[in-house]
Amino acid sequence: NVITIINEVITIVNRKAEEKNISILFEKDMEPIIIEADPYRLKQIFINIVSNALAYTTNNGSVAIKVTNDSSKVYIDIEDTGIGIEQSEIPRIFERFYRVDRARSRNSGGTGLGLAIVKHLVEAHKGLVTVESEVGKGSVFRFEFNKKFIEE
Ligand code: ATP
Ligand code: MG
Repeated sequence: NVITIINEVITIVNRKAEEKNISILFEKDMEPIIIEADPYRLKQIFINIVSNALAYTTNNGSVAIKVTNDSSKVYIDIEDTGIGIEQSEIPRIFERFYRVDRARSRNSGGTGLGLAIVKHLVEAHKGLVTVESEVGKGSVFRFEFNKKFIEE
Protein backbone atom coordinates (compact mmCIF):
# COMPACT_ATOMS: atom_id res chain seq x y z
CA ASN A 1 0.00 0.00 0.00
CA VAL A 2 1.65 3.19 -1.27
CA ILE A 3 -0.19 5.34 1.30
CA THR A 4 1.20 3.38 4.25
CA ILE A 5 4.71 3.52 2.83
CA ILE A 6 4.58 7.29 2.37
CA ASN A 7 3.22 7.80 5.89
CA GLU A 8 6.21 5.83 7.20
CA VAL A 9 8.58 7.96 5.11
CA ILE A 10 7.06 11.16 6.51
CA THR A 11 7.57 9.86 10.06
CA ILE A 12 11.24 9.16 9.30
CA VAL A 13 12.03 12.58 7.81
CA ASN A 14 9.84 14.53 10.22
CA ARG A 15 12.69 15.64 12.48
CA LYS A 16 14.68 17.06 9.57
CA ALA A 17 11.58 18.92 8.38
CA GLU A 18 11.00 20.39 11.83
CA GLU A 19 14.62 21.53 12.08
CA LYS A 20 14.17 23.58 8.91
CA ASN A 21 10.57 24.52 9.62
CA ILE A 22 9.49 22.93 6.35
CA SER A 23 5.91 21.72 6.28
CA ILE A 24 5.16 18.40 4.62
CA LEU A 25 1.68 18.17 3.11
CA PHE A 26 0.30 14.78 2.13
CA GLU A 27 -2.67 14.85 -0.20
CA LYS A 28 -4.40 11.54 -0.84
CA ASP A 29 -7.68 9.66 -0.76
CA MET A 30 -8.58 7.38 2.09
CA GLU A 31 -8.54 4.01 0.36
CA PRO A 32 -5.33 1.98 0.09
CA ILE A 33 -3.49 1.88 -3.25
CA ILE A 34 -1.79 -1.44 -3.82
CA ILE A 35 1.12 -1.93 -6.16
CA GLU A 36 3.30 -4.96 -6.65
CA ALA A 37 6.60 -3.89 -5.15
CA ASP A 38 9.23 -4.63 -2.57
CA PRO A 39 8.00 -2.39 0.27
CA TYR A 40 11.52 -1.87 1.58
CA ARG A 41 12.76 -0.66 -1.82
CA LEU A 42 9.72 1.50 -2.35
CA LYS A 43 10.37 3.16 0.98
CA GLN A 44 13.99 3.70 -0.02
CA ILE A 45 12.86 5.50 -3.21
CA PHE A 46 10.67 7.96 -1.34
CA ILE A 47 13.10 8.51 1.54
CA ASN A 48 15.67 9.59 -1.07
CA ILE A 49 13.29 11.93 -2.88
CA VAL A 50 11.76 13.52 0.21
CA SER A 51 15.23 13.86 1.79
CA ASN A 52 16.41 15.68 -1.33
CA ALA A 53 13.33 17.91 -1.25
CA LEU A 54 14.19 18.85 2.35
CA ALA A 55 17.92 19.22 1.67
CA TYR A 56 17.50 21.49 -1.36
CA THR A 57 14.78 23.67 0.11
CA THR A 58 15.59 26.59 2.41
CA ASN A 59 14.03 27.11 5.83
CA ASN A 60 10.28 27.76 6.01
CA GLY A 61 9.55 26.16 2.63
CA SER A 62 7.18 23.30 1.95
CA VAL A 63 7.06 19.85 0.42
CA ALA A 64 3.81 18.55 -1.03
CA ILE A 65 3.23 14.87 -1.69
CA LYS A 66 0.24 14.05 -3.85
CA VAL A 67 -1.01 10.56 -4.64
CA THR A 68 -3.67 9.92 -7.27
CA ASN A 69 -4.68 6.84 -9.23
CA ASP A 70 -6.76 5.56 -12.10
CA SER A 71 -7.85 2.01 -12.89
CA SER A 72 -4.35 0.79 -13.73
CA LYS A 73 -1.79 3.21 -12.34
CA VAL A 74 -0.75 5.23 -9.33
CA TYR A 75 0.81 8.68 -9.71
CA ILE A 76 2.96 10.14 -6.97
CA ASP A 77 4.13 13.77 -7.16
CA ILE A 78 6.67 15.15 -4.71
CA GLU A 79 6.93 18.89 -5.06
CA ASP A 80 9.20 21.27 -3.18
CA THR A 81 9.62 25.04 -2.98
CA GLY A 82 13.41 24.66 -3.14
CA ILE A 83 16.34 25.97 -5.14
CA GLY A 84 15.30 24.22 -8.33
CA ILE A 85 17.45 22.58 -11.00
CA GLU A 86 18.77 24.19 -14.16
CA GLN A 87 17.04 22.72 -17.24
CA SER A 88 20.37 21.60 -18.72
CA GLU A 89 21.27 19.72 -15.51
CA ILE A 90 18.07 17.69 -15.31
CA PRO A 91 19.21 14.84 -17.61
CA ARG A 92 22.37 14.43 -15.54
CA ILE A 93 21.02 14.30 -11.97
CA PHE A 94 20.24 10.58 -12.21
CA GLU A 95 23.87 9.78 -13.03
CA ARG A 96 25.98 8.21 -10.31
CA PHE A 97 27.95 10.75 -8.26
CA TYR A 98 26.48 13.70 -10.17
CA ARG A 99 25.71 16.76 -8.05
CA VAL A 100 24.63 20.07 -9.55
CA ASP A 101 26.56 22.52 -7.40
CA ARG A 102 29.71 20.85 -6.17
CA ALA A 103 30.87 23.82 -4.09
CA ARG A 104 27.58 24.20 -2.30
CA SER A 105 26.70 20.53 -2.03
CA ARG A 106 30.13 19.61 -0.63
CA ASN A 107 29.09 20.92 2.81
CA SER A 108 25.75 19.13 2.66
CA GLY A 109 27.64 15.82 2.80
CA GLY A 110 25.87 13.76 0.14
CA THR A 111 27.48 11.40 -2.34
CA GLY A 112 25.40 11.98 -5.45
CA LEU A 113 24.18 8.40 -5.46
CA GLY A 114 20.64 8.94 -4.20
CA LEU A 115 18.93 9.57 -7.52
CA ALA A 116 20.94 6.91 -9.36
CA ILE A 117 19.62 4.39 -6.84
CA VAL A 118 16.10 5.81 -7.19
CA LYS A 119 16.17 5.44 -10.98
CA HIS A 120 17.49 1.90 -10.74
CA LEU A 121 14.82 0.86 -8.22
CA VAL A 122 12.00 2.53 -10.16
CA GLU A 123 13.02 0.71 -13.34
CA ALA A 124 13.31 -2.58 -11.47
CA HIS A 125 9.63 -2.08 -10.58
CA LYS A 126 8.71 -1.17 -14.19
CA GLY A 127 7.85 2.34 -13.03
CA LEU A 128 8.62 5.78 -14.37
CA VAL A 129 10.20 8.87 -12.82
CA THR A 130 10.31 12.34 -14.39
CA VAL A 131 11.33 15.78 -13.15
CA GLU A 132 10.09 19.30 -13.74
CA SER A 133 11.91 22.20 -12.19
CA GLU A 134 12.38 25.93 -12.21
CA VAL A 135 15.45 27.56 -10.69
CA GLY A 136 14.53 29.58 -7.60
CA LYS A 137 10.99 28.20 -7.57
CA GLY A 138 11.22 24.49 -6.90
CA SER A 139 11.06 21.00 -8.33
CA VAL A 140 8.56 18.23 -8.78
CA PHE A 141 9.53 14.57 -9.04
CA ARG A 142 6.72 12.53 -10.61
CA PHE A 143 6.37 8.77 -10.32
CA GLU A 144 4.15 6.25 -12.05
CA PHE A 145 3.70 2.63 -11.00
CA ASN A 146 1.33 -0.06 -12.18
CA LYS A 147 -1.32 -1.01 -9.67
CA LYS A 148 -1.46 -4.61 -8.59
CA PHE A 149 -3.89 -6.54 -10.77
CA ILE A 150 -6.37 -8.31 -8.55
CA GLU A 151 -8.47 -11.08 -10.08
CA GLU A 152 -12.17 -10.77 -9.38
P1 ATP B 1 23.03 11.64 -1.78
O1 ATP B 1 23.76 10.52 -2.45
O2 ATP B 1 23.38 11.78 -0.35
O3 ATP B 1 21.58 11.60 -2.04
P2 ATP B 1 22.87 14.01 -3.37
O4 ATP B 1 21.58 14.42 -2.73
O5 ATP B 1 23.80 15.11 -3.73
O6 ATP B 1 23.62 12.98 -2.45
P3 ATP B 1 21.27 12.84 -5.45
O7 ATP B 1 20.18 12.58 -4.48
O8 ATP B 1 21.60 11.81 -6.45
O9 ATP B 1 22.61 13.18 -4.70
O10 ATP B 1 20.93 14.18 -6.25
C1 ATP B 1 21.83 14.64 -7.25
C2 ATP B 1 21.82 16.15 -7.35
O11 ATP B 1 20.57 16.58 -7.88
C3 ATP B 1 21.95 16.86 -6.00
O12 ATP B 1 23.27 17.03 -5.61
C4 ATP B 1 21.27 18.20 -6.28
O13 ATP B 1 22.19 19.06 -6.92
C5 ATP B 1 20.19 17.82 -7.31
N1 ATP B 1 18.86 17.66 -6.68
C6 ATP B 1 18.25 16.51 -6.33
N2 ATP B 1 17.03 16.71 -5.82
C7 ATP B 1 16.83 18.05 -5.84
C8 ATP B 1 15.76 18.91 -5.45
N3 ATP B 1 14.61 18.43 -4.94
N4 ATP B 1 15.91 20.25 -5.64
C9 ATP B 1 17.05 20.74 -6.19
N5 ATP B 1 18.11 19.99 -6.57
C10 ATP B 1 18.01 18.66 -6.41
MG1 MG C 1 20.11 12.91 -2.34
